[in-house]
Amino acid sequence: MAEDSVRTTCPYCGVGCGVVVSRTRDGFAIGGDPDHPANRGRLCSKGINLLHTLDDGTRLTEPMVDGRAIGWAGAIAATADRLRHVIDEHGPEAVAFYASGQLLTEDYYVANKLLKGFIGSPHIDTNSRLCMASTVAGHKRAFGADAVPGCYEDLEIADLVILVGSNLAWCHPVLFQRLKAARAERGTKVVVIDPRRTATCEIADLHLPLKPGSDVALFNGLLAQLAETGALDHPFLSNVAGLKAALETAQADVPVAQACGLESDEVATFFDWFTRTPRTVTVFSQGVNQSSQGTDKVNAILNVHLATGRVGKPGATPFSVTGQPNAMGGREVGGLANQLAAHMNPDDPADVDRLRRFWKAPALRGGQGLKAVDLFRAVEDGRIKALWIMATNPAVSLPDSDRVRAALAKCPLVIVSDVVADTDTLRLAHIRLPATAWGEKDGTVTNSERRISRQRPFRPAPGLARPDWWIISEVGRALGWEKAFSYTGPAAIFREHARLSAFENDGARAFHIGGAVRAKYDTLEPFQWPCRKVGQSTARLYGDGRFTTVDGRGAMITVSWQAPRDLPSLRWPVIANTGRYRDQWHTMTRTGLAPRLSGHRSEPLAEVSPRDAAAWNLRDGGLTRVTSPHGDALLRVRVTEDQPPGQVFLPIHWSDSGAARAVVSRLVTGHVDPVSGQPESKYTPVRLEPWVPAWQGLLLARSAMDVSGAVYWVRHHAEGCEVYDLAGDVGLDFAFNGCERIDYSDARRGITRTAWLRDGRLEAALFVGPDRPQVARGWLDKQFATEILRDADRAALLAGQAPSGATDGSRQVCACFGVSLHAIEEAVADGRARTVDDIGRLLRAGTGCGSCVSDIKEVLSQSKPNQAA
Ligand code: SF4
Repeated sequence: MAEDSVRTTCPYCGVGCGVVVSRTRDGFAIGGDPDHPANRGRLCSKGINLLHTLDDGTRLTEPMVDGRAIGWAGAIAATADRLRHVIDEHGPEAVAFYASGQLLTEDYYVANKLLKGFIGSPHIDTNSRLCMASTVAGHKRAFGADAVPGCYEDLEIADLVILVGSNLAWCHPVLFQRLKAARAERGTKVVVIDPRRTATCEIADLHLPLKPGSDVALFNGLLAQLAETGALDHPFLSNVAGLKAALETAQADVPVAQACGLESDEVATFFDWFTRTPRTVTVFSQGVNQSSQGTDKVNAILNVHLATGRVGKPGATPFSVTGQPNAMGGREVGGLANQLAAHMNPDDPADVDRLRRFWKAPALRGGQGLKAVDLFRAVEDGRIKALWIMATNPAVSLPDSDRVRAALAKCPLVIVSDVVADTDTLRLAHIRLPATAWGEKDGTVTNSERRISRQRPFRPAPGLARPDWWIISEVGRALGWEKAFSYTGPAAIFREHARLSAFENDGARAFHIGGAVRAKYDTLEPFQWPCRKVGQSTARLYGDGRFTTVDGRGAMITVSWQAPRDLPSLRWPVIANTGRYRDQWHTMTRTGLAPRLSGHRSEPLAEVSPRDAAAWNLRDGGLTRVTSPHGDALLRVRVTEDQPPGQVFLPIHWSDSGAARAVVSRLVTGHVDPVSGQPESKYTPVRLEPWVPAWQGLLLARSAMDVSGAVYWVRHHAEGCEVYDLAGDVGLDFAFNGCERIDYSDARRGITRTAWLRDGRLEAALFVGPDRPQVARGWLDKQFATEILRDADRAALLAGQAPSGATDGSRQVCACFGVSLHAIEEAVADGRARTVDDIGRLLRAGTGCGSCVSDIKEVLSQSKPNQAA
């Protein structure tokens, strides 16, 4: 590694890949860290494009109070004064924090300490509530601790890997690549359990498209079968409580085929493989967690692993993968409303006393705070008067989000710390505090396998942006708790956090990093907790049959399948399932800045089966209005055989900043799991109707435009221009003063095409017609880089097509190496490529994160070599 390189960690998903950033003559270069155990040098498309998201122009760079820029001294004083006023008038419990798995552990630690320990309110929750709170609750019920028993290597050495509610190929691409490589080498069998046929099914030996919400019935059926076939591990079970009751309920539960809607031979194959394969890993993710029965689903999975003794053993374990980069770090410091720091329990007076003594925080009280959905309900009904939101965008991400926005709009004090200047949530803030972003931040994160890694800075923060821990500490000091918040830097916070984990911890708390107290923070190498002694790193937990419960026994939990709360009806006949795209992250405040990452899906799509498309009169490429009892969204239709009938898939990424009406959380009800409080995001009955506008258009412009006159608009960034897909009922006029205007119109087909040029250089282009303009988008946006357009280019511009000889106007397939559909089709057509490997060798497509391999396969299956080739 070059001397001026910095080893840091990717800020996106819970895989937690190591990244190396090196200084070059022109700026920086990025690559995977070959020495990081999570990724061993690999990165996915999001990781590879990280440097393209560092745009200081979009950053919040000055503290703002009531819309006025104000220096830090004024902002800290205003924040502290207003918080103090609310505390004095309404009591500490009128203050709440809503944090995020994007925060570093050190930031999170200080936020918890300030609110719970010193302000004296228990109401801190986090967007991890939306992500994996059900797994936390399930692990605690079964193992006594919020602890993942396995590690990534288990996926590589298992003989059978079951993926439940996890589109690993898109959501955890590097882990998917590790599994795929292991499967190629040793023939690992893979089962995908998911209502949709996702990109992950590319490596599936068996895909079980179960009915949404029926996972408990499936795993209960498996438990009954394990008992029937004598596959229970009785020596292991001698230290596990609850077998009898869990088994009796499982045996009496609804028949699998009836609840799950699966073919009986597929179910039999799955049961048989599980029964006969000691080295089995079950990976589960948001498809399990984001459910009103999420915790029971988790425990149904844990039950079959406990029953067979396959917990925390090499290649044999249940394994939850987290969505966020630091969801686990946040939980280590007590970031959820039902936790205290260092895995202590707010309902245990001894733990409350212990933490109170350690922090010297007399205000710390016991009891649980409000979980995310209830917290925003308390904002709505006025119980919470001051809310500090850190590094998250709840106006977009929380269910029933119009209600969340209305609650924020009437909250007397909304403070938002963020890195970008404009989010839907920031628009509702009284105080805006500029925080440092990835590349500037300094601290630690914990990934899905309990591995703590450093995030290190390699560039200066723009303007007045400051680290979250610094902002929170300054407010704590301004509130009068000078000593408790006198940190000199993240290293001091990490040491206190590590000391707390070891404080009066004889093993009763799984989280222990006392061995890292004296480690050199700057050069801290990735390690897995528990780490009781210097240099210790623990890959697996509970394989010896000893758990973190009071009596050391594990627990099988009695669960039985329950039908989802709101079943489809005549009025709401389709089940909406929300989720992620391969190349985007959360509400796109960062990934949306990288043009390459928009090439895969530039618009939000409502994905429906051909049968539903026919039933609801929807057309592939047309537009649909999706409505639920809570709201509606306008999206483009994608008709695909991958989508089961009766269900629609909707992406979570678009906010009001990037589209007219595509915030799909507006549709979601807000039902929560009764144990974990996690909202149901995978099962909302909705209605789909075609929406046929008078016109549709595509606008490309050198700078951002006001397109609010369009009923439908979606914006994305391309190289050198902003791109807007538009549709409406009343035509829009655009004016570009001082520009030459060239037009084409075809009245018969209702088509107009206009381009504006300034001194021969393209300023904007607008294509309008009755349908989505079929133009060469990939070629068009490149014309903004041309200094003077030739006559042939002008003609091609009005045709909307690349001139003959110019190669590319098609969509991008591979975001890692920027390979277009056209390039792949051409390689197939001229006979140079017949397989995915050929494409990889020729074009590199599919050889980065590999998430586009299923797309490449689809292109291969649809493309034919030229006769002459
Ligand atoms: Fe980042 Fe991709 Fe690795 Fe996830 S898999 S941590 S998004 S590089």
